[in-house]
Amino acid sequence: MKVHLLQVPPEGIHLVGKEETEILELNEPHVRPLDHVAYDLQVGISGTSLFAIGRLWVDVELECVSCLRRFVYPLVVPDFAAQVDLTGPEVIDLTPLVREDILLVLPAHPRCDWDGKTTCPGLRAQGQMVDAEPTQVPSAWDALDDLDLKPKIN
Ligand SMILES: [Zn+2]
Repeated sequence: MKVHLLQVPPEGIHLVGKEETEILELNEPHVRPLDHVAYDLQVGISGTSLFAIGRLWVDVELECVSCLRRFVYPLVVPDFAAQVDLTGPEVIDLTPLVREDILLVLPAHPRCDWDGKTTCPGLRAQGQMVDAEPTQVPSAWDALDDLDLKPKIN
């Protein structure tokens, strides 16, 4: 997502478009972008800075942490704001800033019922987690208590 300074008139410019999802550099196997990264930005130059404000969004497929179902989740950055100092190059690359802000809205523990309408059938998965907890094993110690160790001590 590059902006050429010559592209920006004094009154600023409204940029609407899409970028390939490769810019997100997602290595997470449970996060699959379903569409391009869309942007709707107002870009301008103020003093020695270029600024960009607006909205970013991309639909991704996530895996529910509870039921392991895959579901579509809209990643939205409603108030993206970036400021880049103009230090020389005429082409400003907003990609790292865009990537950073989008990854920030990625839920750490995605759930398919995030929308308040879906019912997550994940109780089964939670039950498995409870079952996996270590169970008390007092029997081995009980057996030791029953041993008569006095002959060995003496
Ligand atoms: Zn779920």
